[in-house]
Amino acid sequence: MAYQISDDCIKCGACAAECPVSAITEGDDKYVIDADACVECGSCEGVCPVGAPAQA
Ligand code: SF4
Ligand code: SF4
Repeated sequence: MAYQISDDCIKCGACAAECPVSAITEGDDKYVIDADACVECGSCEGVCPVGAPAQA
């Protein structure tokens, strides 16, 4: 399953910079992952300071 970003996101942008397929974009309240584009590499989970991305 693709990764999803929880409401814990503080919109730092680190995950979007790390995503190899540019699946992460800034949303209104948090960053969001395009589930169709995500290749489940886990990079976003690795760089997030608050542990917001997780596999759904
Ligand atoms: Fe991008 Fe990888 Fe995170 Fe999916 S798991 S959103 S491909 S960084
Ligand atoms: Fe949000 Fe974490 Fe991504 Fe930063 S790295 S924008 S806190 S999900």
